[in-house]
Amino acid sequence: MATFRQRALDEAATHKTERFYVEEGPVSGYFGKNVLDLDKMRGYMSQEAYEAVVASAEFGAKLDRSVSNEIASGMKAWAIEMGATHYTHLFQPLTDSTAEKHEAFISLKDGKPFEKFNGSALVQQEPDASSFPNGGLRNTFEARGYSAWDPSSPVFLMDGTLCIPSVFVSYTGEALDTKAPNLKSMQALSNAATAVVNLFDESVSAVKVNLGIEQEYFLVDESLYNARPDLMLSGRTVIGHTASKDQQLEDHYFGAIPSRVSSFMKDFETEAYKLGILLQTRHNEVAPNQFECAPVYCGATKAIDQNMMLMIIMQKVAEKHHLKVIFHEKPFAGVNGSGKHCNWSLMTDTGINLLSPGKTPTKNLQFLSFYASVLRAVHKHHFLLMTTVATLGNSYRLGGNEAPPAVMSVFSGSTLYGVFQSILNMKDQKVSSDRQESIKIVNAIPEIFPDNTDRNRTSPFAFTGNRFEFRAVGASQNVASAVYVLNTMVAESLTEFREEVDALEAAGTGREEAVMAVVRRFISEAKDIMFEGNGYSREWEEEAESRGLRAVKNVPEAYEVYHENQTVELFEKTGVLAPNEVEARFEILNEIYVKKLQIEARIIGDLCLNHVLPAAVKYQNILIENVKGVKDIFGDSYAELCSAEIETLKKISSYINSVSADVAALVDARKRANKIEDIAQRAKVYSHEVKDMMHKVRLNADHLEMLIDNEMWPLPKYRELLFF
Ligand code: ADP
Ligand code: MG
Repeated sequence: MATFRQRALDEAATHKTERFYVEEGPVSGYFGKNVLDLDKMRGYMSQEAYEAVVASAEFGAKLDRSVSNEIASGMKAWAIEMGATHYTHLFQPLTDSTAEKHEAFISLKDGKPFEKFNGSALVQQEPDASSFPNGGLRNTFEARGYSAWDPSSPVFLMDGTLCIPSVFVSYTGEALDTKAPNLKSMQALSNAATAVVNLFDESVSAVKVNLGIEQEYFLVDESLYNARPDLMLSGRTVIGHTASKDQQLEDHYFGAIPSRVSSFMKDFETEAYKLGILLQTRHNEVAPNQFECAPVYCGATKAIDQNMMLMIIMQKVAEKHHLKVIFHEKPFAGVNGSGKHCNWSLMTDTGINLLSPGKTPTKNLQFLSFYASVLRAVHKHHFLLMTTVATLGNSYRLGGNEAPPAVMSVFSGSTLYGVFQSILNMKDQKVSSDRQESIKIVNAIPEIFPDNTDRNRTSPFAFTGNRFEFRAVGASQNVASAVYVLNTMVAESLTEFREEVDALEAAGTGREEAVMAVVRRFISEAKDIMFEGNGYSREWEEEAESRGLRAVKNVPEAYEVYHENQTVELFEKTGVLAPNEVEARFEILNEIYVKKLQIEARIIGDLCLNHVLPAAVKYQNILIENVKGVKDIFGDSYAELCSAEIETLKKISSYINSVSADVAALVDARKRANKIEDIAQRAKVYSHEVKDMMHKVRLNADHLEMLIDNEMWPLPKYRELLFF
C-alpha cells in the first residue's frame, strides 16, 4: 500500500487505551484546585485588598492602583506555592482562539534571583501582539495592544503558568478582542433588564446572563491525522469520498462510548475539574467519531472563559492519547458538522430566572415582558444575529440537511405559541383589551419544565422551557462574538419596552394593562420570526423569504450588515462598540475569511497535484500495461476482452484532465482575487469563484478515489479516519 498511508494505519493500530491523568479520591476533593477563586484569595491578602477584588469582580468596580500591588503579590504567593514559574495574560483576539505570551517570574535584584510580579504586570501588560488582526485600529508601527486582567474571571494555573484572563485593547482604548465588548454588552443588558424587572419587583438591582455551552467535537487518531495535510492545516478534509456507511443507521448517537475515547474523556474531565469547570454530560453525537460534552451553566463571562480553556485542555490531553480533537464546523463531508449550542438565560441578583414562566400571574407577566422583548430583538436584528455565526467553517455546515438553516427563526413550543396567538387575537386593537381577558391569558401560562417542552432540533433559536438555545454557533467559534450581539440587541429591546410602558403609564393606563399592551405590540411586530415547523424543509426557506426574513446565503455578503445603520446605531447607543470598532470588526471578518479560504484552496491544489494525480497516473499505467499484455496474447480481440479496463482508463483519463484543468483554474481565480485591493470585495470574489472551483475540484478528485486501486491511494480514507 502507499507507504504514507500504510505507516499511518500501522501506527494507529498500536495506540492503546490508557489513563494519564488520575486524581485520588472523589472529584469534590480536587475540584477547583488550580483556580484562585475569591474564597482562596481571602487568605492571600488584606481585607481591604480582598474587598476591592470582590467589588471589582461582582459589581464591575474599577480596580484601584493602590491595591493592585498587594493583589498581585497575593496571586504570586499562591502561584509559587502551586509550583508556577511563569505568568501570562490570556486574551481572546478576534481570531476565535486564545492568545498567550508567557513571562517568567524569575528576576534579578543586586545579582540575587527573586520572583517578581507586581500590580502593573497584573492590570496592564503590553504583549506587543502586533500581528493580531485589528482592522486598521492600530498602526503596527506606533501603538501597541494592551491587556488587563478582567477581575470577573479568576486567575488559574495551567502547565505551571499563572493564567490571567484579560481584555485586549488598543493604545487608544478600542476593543481588539471579544471579551471587552461582551463585558460592555452585559452591563448594557443588566441596566435595561433591571429597569424592566423593577416594574414588577423593586428589590432587583442587577441582572446577569447565564450560559451553558454544549461543545461538539470529532476525534481522529493522531497518526492518521498527520497523514492528512488538509486536516492538519485547515482542520477539515478538503477532499475525500464518503464511507459506504457513516451515520445512516444512527447507531453512533448516544451509543456506547469507545473505551479509548472514554479514557480520553475521563482524563480531560479530571483536568477540567481542577480548573473548576463543572462538566456534567458526555455522549456520542450523530456522526461517527463525533462527541459532545457540556458543563453546568454559569455566568456568561466564566462560561465563555471556561469554554476557551476547555478547548485548550482537550487538545493537550488528547496528545497523550495520540488523538486529535477537531473543532472545525464541518471536518467531513456527508456527515454532521459540529456546533456549540449556546443556552442563554437571564437571572436577577435575587436569583430569579427571568425566562422561566411562573406560578403567579405577576411572574407570568414579567416572563412575557422578557420573552416578547427577546422575540422582538431577534426579529429586528435577525440577519445580524445569524451573521454572528457566519464564518467560512460554519458556511459548510449551516443550511446542510442536518444543521440549523442559515435563516433565523424562534421556536417557542406549542403551549407558548398558543399563548402568543391568543394575545395577538385579543379584541381591542388600541391598548390592551378588557383586563379580564389578559388576566385569563396570563394565568394560562403553565410552569414549563425543560423536560416537558417539545423539542425542535431544526430551529436555530429554540426556547427550551427556561432558556433559549442558540444552536447555530460554530464549534470552533468563541461564543462571545455571538453572545455580545445577542445581549446588545436584547438590551435595546428591553430599554424600549420600559420606555413604552412608562409612556402609557404617564398617559393614565394602569401598569398591568400597559405592560400587556406593550407585550402585545412587541409580539405583533415580531410574529414573523416565530416558526414551529421543520426548519430544514424547502418550504420553510420559501416561507421565510416571503416573510421578509433574510437568510445568510453568502458569508462576505452577509458581513455588509455591519454597514447598515440599524447595526451601527445599535452598538453605538448601547455603548458596546463605537462605529470605528464596528468597521474594524467588518474588516477583520473579511480578512479572516479570505485567509482561511486561501489556505484551503492551496491545500486542495497541493493534494491534487502531489498526491491524487500521481496515484491516478500510476494506476492508469498499470491498466495500460494490462491491456497491452492482453493484446500481445489475444491480438485484436483485446478490445472486447478488456472492455472494462478500457472503460475505467477512459474515466480515469477524463478525471485526471478535469482535476488538472480545474486546479489551474483555481490558482488563476485565487491570483485574480488577490489583486483586489478592497478586502471586502476580495472576500466576495473568493466566496464565489474560489469556493466554487474548489467544489468542482473535489468532486472529480473524489471520483478518482473510487476508481483507483485502494492499495495505491495515498491518503487515509473516511472509513479509516472515522471509526475507532
Ligand atoms: P441538551 O443536549 O438536551 O440540550 P445538555 O444537557 O447537553 O442538553 O445541555 C444543556 C445545557 O444547558 C447545559 O449546559 C445546562 O447547564 C444548560 N442550562 C440549563 N438550564 C439553563 C439556564 N437556565 N440557563 C442557561 N443554561 C442552562
Ligand atoms: Mg442542547
